[in-house]
Amino acid sequence: MLDNNLKNSPQLIVGNLSVVYPGVKAVANVSFSLAKGATLGIAGESGSGKSTIALALMKLIAPPGRITSGEIIFDGKNLLKLSDAEMVRVRGAKISMIFQDPFTSLNPVFTVGEQIAEAVRLHQGLGRAAAWAAAVKRLEAVHIKEAERRAHDYPHQFSGGMRQRVMIAMALACRPQLLIADEPTTALDTTIQLEIIQLLKEVQAEFNLSVIFITHNFGIVKAFCRDVLVINKGSVVETGPVAAVLSRPQSSYTRKLLDALRIINRE
Ligand code: ADP
Ligand code: MG
Repeated sequence: MLDNNLKNSPQLIVGNLSVVYPGVKAVANVSFSLAKGATLGIAGESGSGKSTIALALMKLIAPPGRITSGEIIFDGKNLLKLSDAEMVRVRGAKISMIFQDPFTSLNPVFTVGEQIAEAVRLHQGLGRAAAWAAAVKRLEAVHIKEAERRAHDYPHQFSGGMRQRVMIAMALACRPQLLIADEPTTALDTTIQLEIIQLLKEVQAEFNLSVIFITHNFGIVKAFCRDVLVINKGSVVETGPVAAVLSRPQSSYTRKLLDALRIINRE
């Protein structure tokens, strides 16, 4: 009975999450859940609290900022109760994050192969040769051509779009279950944006990932996500399947975001 319940229970349950920075209530009582393999968009304007939610999920809110309430149940465990050492084993290994700026996760002084192999070695305890082979395989998974040779290159030797691919390869290094993507395509040209979204769809299927896709762009939510959480000033204003929210937005804030998208599309 218990086993059955666990199998059907969501992979991630966030309940009443609140985060404050000095003088700012950045996230207020946010709740949502995510089934295994699901795609959830978190949409809202700049400053609405999206990145803070993402960082809170990874327990990476830097002091004096702090999580003031809530629970984050991942795989049946409340992450907020885990020790720092236990959390290190969750980050990267079970939950990975990608960002707008690839240099947030890529170190400029190591080759991309070394970095991905190091992550694999740390979390999966593979030997050097096996970890290097895994790194090359990840670069192939994100369609870096001549992956074996390019694994010896440094991050700056890749173009913007290719560097995003390398960052995705890095995030996939340890076969995480959940990928949190915080505006990973915002800084890219439209055609490269589409390529990266296509790639994320592909790796989601291949690696059986659940994905939280954070964006201010409803077009991306529509292209990638099944469900969406709309947030404004740190609070959830609307949530539901993307198709329903797009065709019948309930809040004036969501309608405003959608109008902005229509104007952009018309240009
Ligand atoms: P978004 O990702 O939606 O643009 P953020 O989560 O970055 O929003 O920010 C939410 C609010 O918290 C904003 O008012 C922002 O100014 C504030 N904030 C974010 N990070 C910090 C920080 N490290 N210190 C103080 N305030 C912050
Ligand atoms: Mg942000």
